[in-house]
Amino acid sequence: MSILELDSRRQQSLLSGRSRSQKFWNEFTETMPREQLDELHFKRLKALLRYAYDRVPMYNRLYSEAGMEPEDIRSLDDFNRYVPTIDKQDLVKAQSVNPPWGDSVALSRDFYIYNFQTSGSTGIPVRIPFSMHSQLQYGEPWAYLFWEAGIRSHDSFYFAFPWGMYAGFWSAYWGVRCLGATVLSGGGLSSEERLRQIQLLKPTVLVATPTYTLYLAELAKDLGMDTSKTFIRYIINTGEPGAGIPTTRKAIEHAWGAKAYDSYGIAEVGAIAPGCPDQHGCHLSEDQGYATILDSSGMVVGAGEVGENVVTSYSQMAQPVIKYRTHDLVRAHYDVCSCGRTWLLYEGGVLGRTDDMITIKGTNVYPAAIEYLLSDVHDLSFHYELHVTQGRLNDEVTVKVEPLAGVHSDHYSRLQKDLQAVLKSKTGVKIDVEILSPGTLPRYELKAKRFFDKRPKAV
Ligand SMILES: [Zn+2]
Repeated sequence: MSILELDSRRQQSLLSGRSRSQKFWNEFTETMPREQLDELHFKRLKALLRYAYDRVPMYNRLYSEAGMEPEDIRSLDDFNRYVPTIDKQDLVKAQSVNPPWGDSVALSRDFYIYNFQTSGSTGIPVRIPFSMHSQLQYGEPWAYLFWEAGIRSHDSFYFAFPWGMYAGFWSAYWGVRCLGATVLSGGGLSSEERLRQIQLLKPTVLVATPTYTLYLAELAKDLGMDTSKTFIRYIINTGEPGAGIPTTRKAIEHAWGAKAYDSYGIAEVGAIAPGCPDQHGCHLSEDQGYATILDSSGMVVGAGEVGENVVTSYSQMAQPVIKYRTHDLVRAHYDVCSCGRTWLLYEGGVLGRTDDMITIKGTNVYPAAIEYLLSDVHDLSFHYELHVTQGRLNDEVTVKVEPLAGVHSDHYSRLQKDLQAVLKSKTGVKIDVEILSPGTLPRYELKAKRFFDKRPKAV
């Protein structure tokens, strides 16, 4: 065997460590019965509570103030009910005590090999240190999706984003390293240059936000290029919910002639939920973390009900995150999925943010749920905006949406009536609809701004 063959085989078998026909990345944990998964969770959570209590001043203080010691938690139910939650602000505060990482870390700084930080778009950035162990673990959940979507070490990934402090794409990079495939960087280039590279380098996988994926396809059309004729066969979307929403996903798949997959991650916690290969949403990577879904009063919600995703990581051991409030609204299911996984399914991915929730006549409506319903009306595009104002008694909502290009304006009033009827029947409340001409709404290069909340902020 030549050195070249050997190298290629090493890439395929040693780095990925699996036979190419194997269905799951890790069948043992991905298909583990719920009872066994929960037993495993409880063992790991007990060990994690002890680790954090002994090593991290922030947790020691928090649990002591709550009158709790790790041994007091004797079941998963105890963990869900009694362990205090933490928030981004707790990390910011703990890091301010003794910068850069302060009271929130478990290891001495000799162990840290990387530091990232959150964007700071919702306040002061949180610094995210990684040990080598945490870094490797941080990337692996991506490999679950890559593998089960059919991506193998002979594929090549094009990363259409500026490499920087944004931890999410770095974790995807580490996921590709786990798989043993090729990384092609699109950092430091204009969108046009990226499109030229995609033509030239012939990557088979595109990693980008859903908004940017669509933007690239529109720009390509202007440049006389057809993205459905490139070698891209898989699109991995992250950074915002789009690919979990049927209308948006279909538009992405049509534009690129490829399958599009959603993935859900949180910089401080990890790539917690790789997309379902059958596109039902995202599965919590249950060998790397645990989720408690809570209502607004902090009570655990039942399966299939919408609540806030509160997560605990088994992989971030440098700066442990235990019952971390994500403010993401999710609908969790625990039945075995059609893809074969027993792991918790976030149906449709992230449905919205707790602070975006709209209340109309006592009914809670989530912005992403409205985006979902657009796909129920034929001839509507994925370009939309949601405007919320405070009326005398209720929140008032208007959906502004563009039809697909080529739909005659004679049909606009039918589209308006059809969408209004769908929204009323599925949400139970009246939502106004405006149909705009194609090209009216702004296009975005990275994340789209679609939710415009003009309600007075609570003080
Ligand atoms: Zn699934």
